[in-house]
Amino acid sequence: MANANAPDDVDWDDAARMELEPDAIHENDDGYYFDCPECGSPATIENIIEKGRCNGYLNEQVEGIDFDVKNISCSARLQLELAYTADPESET
Ligand SMILES: [Zn+2]
Repeated sequence: MANANAPDDVDWDDAARMELEPDAIHENDDGYYFDCPECGSPATIENIIEKGRCNGYLNEQVEGIDFDVKNISCSARLQLELAYTADPESET
């Protein structure tokens, strides 16, 4: 799916990856968000998935959060991954 705001020119193989601890996830009235690892602004899950950018880059204030996204510039590309594996089949 091509998206003008998140073109497929990002080499995600070289991206920094971090495991999400429970305290990395913040909740507000609109849903959940993370702190952008580059600029520290809120990055809502919706914006990460749909735009690949944090709210600082998008200049989108998050209601109820004391973080002014004005004058934030950020070059971080963001992507959420869900890693998956299964328990090995038991041999009984
Ligand atoms: Zn950012």
